[in-house]
Amino acid sequence: MLVARLFLISPLWVAYRFHETYHGPLHEEMSFSTLLIMSVVWYLILCWWDSGRAPRSAISVIIRNMALAYCVVWSFLLLFGAGWFFWYMISHVTVWVILFWQMVVHTIAHYYLYPFADPNYYSVRKAGWHPFWDVTPFNFDSELIKDGGFEEPEYTRFVPPTHWLNQCPVCWARQQTNFGVCWNCNYGADGDDTAYRERWGRPPPRPSR
Ligand SMILES: [Zn+2]
Repeated sequence: MLVARLFLISPLWVAYRFHETYHGPLHEEMSFSTLLIMSVVWYLILCWWDSGRAPRSAISVIIRNMALAYCVVWSFLLLFGAGWFFWYMISHVTVWVILFWQMVVHTIAHYYLYPFADPNYYSVRKAGWHPFWDVTPFNFDSELIKDGGFEEPEYTRFVPPTHWLNQCPVCWARQQTNFGVCWNCNYGADGDDTAYRERWGRPPPRPSR
């Protein structure tokens, strides 16, 4: 995660070292302390962005995956004689342009589209799911982490079959249905659904009779 953040900051340093302005190299036009301050601010923004995501992939890691992918995509430019500086910068810039438009689209949809398309939208958002970070192919988390956002416990005796996709809100063991008593920690046996409501902000579903 540290490496991912430094990688995302690296274009600043590359530009600082190699970018030529009209008045000369950037490192003669801009002071080194300005570069340091910009890097620290950028780093803190990334830390803030990543906070509260675990065990989902950190946003820095997802953006790093995107940037690496675009480094590969744009690598054909090198064959056509483009300089490595241009290639490195355009790979990073592509990512940020895409992210900017994703943010615009998802912010609009957050208010005007998603809540109507899915009545549960605000509860899954509350549980930590994000319509871009947990959907993009650059997030390599398992489906279970993307959907539920929690690691399963170490199973010692019984391992739930793969098609069990609900998780217990207390021990995160996978369950066959989204109601009833947890086979692992006995959650639900006393009828106390506090854990579920804290997680989802609504009462648990009732079994259909
Ligand atoms: Zn449980």
